[in-house]
Amino acid sequence: MKADLFDQRRLLELQAVDTQLSQLAQRRRKLDADPVLATAQQRLRALNDKAANLTGDLADLDRDIERVEREVELVTKRADGDRARMASGAATAKELEGLQSELESLARRQGTLEDDELELMERREGLDAELNDVRRQVEEARVVLGDAEADRGRQIGEIDAETAEASSTREALAINIPDRLVELYERIHAKQPIAAAELVGRRCGSCRIEKPPADMIPIRSAPIDEVLRCEECGCVLIRTELPKSGPAPLASQDELKKYQ
Ligand SMILES: [Zn+2]
Repeated sequence: MKADLFDQRRLLELQAVDTQLSQLAQRRRKLDADPVLATAQQRLRALNDKAANLTGDLADLDRDIERVEREVELVTKRADGDRARMASGAATAKELEGLQSELESLARRQGTLEDDELELMERREGLDAELNDVRRQVEEARVVLGDAEADRGRQIGEIDAETAEASSTREALAINIPDRLVELYERIHAKQPIAAAELVGRRCGSCRIEKPPADMIPIRSAPIDEVLRCEECGCVLIRTELPKSGPAPLASQDELKKYQ
């Protein structure tokens, strides 16, 4: 294939943009696989679950405490009634004996209930402290998650902006390269990341393999508009150094700069 050397050299610019685009895609993939955000979300979820469980446990305890308090109230009321009956003087001796025995049993019951209540209150206090601690951790986890989300959003924004810019640069570049040269480049690029590389001395810029001097003879003597391929990796080899002989390059370095 023949193509203007200036157009061939534009493939290097196309290659540079494609390399940039694939690096951006890789950055995006790495970001998607980054566990920081998922870990922060998971931690917040776990802490919220823990807070909900503790809140539920506290509500259960409050109900237990209320139940015990109601029972204490009943016992107290019953004892008050018994004492009133005893004080009324209307009770018989046998009834008094019964009332006395009931009062003792009510006092024991009240003692047990008050012990239970105390134990429940202590448990409540412990749970309350634990819940406050978990709520503090929830707030911290929210901040961590918020930061992680903001950081990710910022990075995605950067990647998207750079990708959009590189894509439009690529489009503008491709328009200015003959179709068949772009097609050749695309065919190679579909198979390997580097489809066009500079020939530096005797070394291919893609596979980095140095060509034996004998192989350089046909390369050096090839017409300037001949599209060369690396025999090792198959990429388009672009001659950027001025040939020692043969026709002059089609574009000078200054002219090249003008198009960059
Ligand atoms: Zn090569």
